[in-house]
Amino acid sequence: MKLFFLAEELSFILGSKFENVDYQKILTEVFEEVQSFKEQGKIANYIPELAKVNPEQFGMTLNLMNGGDYSVGIVDEKFSLQSISKVFSLTLALSIKGESILKRVGVEPSGDPFNSLIQLEYENGIPRNPFINAGAIVIADILYSELDNPKIEFIEFIRKIADNKNIHYNEKVAHSEYETGSRNASLAYFLKSAGNLQNDVAKVLDLYFHICSVEMSCDELAKAFHIYANHGVSLPVTAQNIEKSQIKRINAIMQTCGFYDESGQFSFLVGLPGKSGVGGGIVAIYPNKYSVAAWSPRLNDKGNSVMGMKALELLTSKSGLSIF
Ligand code: GLU
Repeated sequence: MKLFFLAEELSFILGSKFENVDYQKILTEVFEEVQSFKEQGKIANYIPELAKVNPEQFGMTLNLMNGGDYSVGIVDEKFSLQSISKVFSLTLALSIKGESILKRVGVEPSGDPFNSLIQLEYENGIPRNPFINAGAIVIADILYSELDNPKIEFIEFIRKIADNKNIHYNEKVAHSEYETGSRNASLAYFLKSAGNLQNDVAKVLDLYFHICSVEMSCDELAKAFHIYANHGVSLPVTAQNIEKSQIKRINAIMQTCGFYDESGQFSFLVGLPGKSGVGGGIVAIYPNKYSVAAWSPRLNDKGNSVMGMKALELLTSKSGLSIF
């Protein structure tokens, strides 16, 4: 029996090490093929500060878990993580409170736009999942209750996970969103009226907007997602209170809820757990194999990067590898 498991493990390690995929060649082809989509979609202008970004940019970084970094395009320019940052806030909340948070936020795909109000009302103030805005606002409320200095402790947590001290909030983006965030304020006030928001609405929103404003480049984002790709094996000692089973659950929520009301489509076309943000970033993982980040600011009408979606679809099609 033992021998059988050993053989399995060995074939997995050897298989991934010597697998015959030329990732740099694939990324170069992807780069060429996505160019025909570069004028499609619109930059997120409902957050005025985001609209200032040059829309004609594309980058992609892939990190193999057993060593090997590949990239094309603009991979060292920082962009706004927006909803991608919700993966980190969920991770921190889960590591502090465990699954008790699921009394306040569900794990089902919403099938509705990320900022929808209507579902929240008929589901009595329990957001469908932690990645839609209402759910992420509840997670921000939990962090606000649990942490002494929520903004400082959250960014420190990301820096640990990313193994990178050069990760920051973009204050201008956070402020810009605060100024124009009436819809998120509506969600927060409704949550409050339903008894699912415990702290002062303005303070929770300030934390939520800061969480969304965190910036990383493709290179930094791919690295920050190693812990989701290798189930926490790479976690720095200081962040090791995240359990392996919690990483499994977060990956599962990414698979089913990571792309707003286009989550089914992403799963169908790409076949990897991932998360997108309205800053044009997309990150995905292939468990035990790789993490990959793509960025291009123009979004489709669901809020997902046009070139980023296409790039990930081409990656799994060309490599012939997905989790399915
Ligand atoms: N900060 C954005 C908002 O609340 C996040 C949206 C997103 O990336 O999904 O509208």
